[in-house]
Amino acid sequence: MEFKSFLIKYAEIGVKGKNRYLFEDALVSNIAKSLKKSAEGDFRVHKEDGRIYVDALSSYDYDEVIYALTHVFGIVGVCPMIQIEDEGFEDLKAKVVAYMDEMYPDKNITFKVNARRARKNYPLDSMAINCDVGEAILNAFPEIKVDVRNPKVMLNIEIRKHINIYSEIIPGPGGMPVGTAGKAMLLLSGGIDSPVAGYMIAKRGVELEAVYFHTPPYTSERAKQKVVDLAEKVAAYAGNIKLNVVNFTDIQMYIYEKCPHEQLTIIMKRVMYKIAEKLAKQNGALGLVTGESIGQVSSQTMQSLMVIDENTDMPVYRPVIAFDKQEIVDISLKIDTYDISTQPYEDCCTTFVAKHPVTKPNLNVIKHSELKLAEKIDEMIEEAVRTVEVLDI
Ligand code: ATP
Ligand code: MG
Repeated sequence: MEFKSFLIKYAEIGVKGKNRYLFEDALVSNIAKSLKKSAEGDFRVHKEDGRIYVDALSSYDYDEVIYALTHVFGIVGVCPMIQIEDEGFEDLKAKVVAYMDEMYPDKNITFKVNARRARKNYPLDSMAINCDVGEAILNAFPEIKVDVRNPKVMLNIEIRKHINIYSEIIPGPGGMPVGTAGKAMLLLSGGIDSPVAGYMIAKRGVELEAVYFHTPPYTSERAKQKVVDLAEKVAAYAGNIKLNVVNFTDIQMYIYEKCPHEQLTIIMKRVMYKIAEKLAKQNGALGLVTGESIGQVSSQTMQSLMVIDENTDMPVYRPVIAFDKQEIVDISLKIDTYDISTQPYEDCCTTFVAKHPVTKPNLNVIKHSELKLAEKIDEMIEEAVRTVEVLDI
């Protein structure tokens, strides 16, 4: 069946009172952007009567449109539908019968009619529409059966200015439209966790910018490309992402030279957070986002996280903090980042990691070690921020 229109269902944003129109406008604009990026063809996205519709103005590829729409946060369901004018009830019945015939060539199904009359001047009420349309379908197709409890096909008829007919609801990603909740700076590495963290925070409407700490030649161009590929996957949901690539080699070598090796990871993370904070402030981001999860590795114990956090005065958001690895993996599979994340290119932490890193760092001890960096570190941080390479994803 060739659909000309899609009805977009959204939930949470329906309850935002006076702000509702802001959310709807963001959703309309994000849908248009996603279609432009992922689907060929001309489309009109518009609000009408408390509903959002996507109309195809040209030929299009169905799978591309569904891909584009199921990657827009704020959408809970996509309903391919036919829209007809009100030309009397007999006409409606005939068109619904024709719709059922085309949608369900195999008539060995159960169904229920679910009519909603948003326009109260329609001559029949919802109950009467349900009964009479149901009867017309039963008369047309003897094998079809009604099941009001658990129908295979829920046939929705919405009487509005126009009349919408649909029976399929493709689940959307839920969440809030990106751009309605401020901006955050994602620390994006090549691993499994941070892309998932970025996806999750963007799901709440947060616009993302990202920073990757690159340590050539210890990490290769392939490792950097992996991060770019991951950013693209996250951007399929989060919209455009500005990726800041920081050259971290000199800083890492300096810490390696001056500080006890078992403290390396903690001190390095503290400096990463500081640089991320500076970039965030420069770019209007309101917090940092990381992929840490309690206890996953030595630098992710409660003690380590406390010591790392102490070096920034920005809020650090950790959407996967209480997730098991498998739960994170499940999301990475869903958002298609898993295969990229598990490619074998090294990251900077694996190159320099100590055999026995501290698991319960003491802040005073760490600060004492950092005194050995006092001569050059501030200048090096400034330099790293100044020479950042910016990629638009
Ligand atoms: P991931 O799977 O996201 O790489 P991880 O389990 O490997 O995480 P760590 O290496 O301890 O954990 O890193 C913790 C978090 O610090 C990451 O989730 C990421 O947000 C950030 N991070 C680590 N290394 C980098 C890097 N090279 N560039 C940017 N962010 C990083
Ligand atoms: Mg990692």
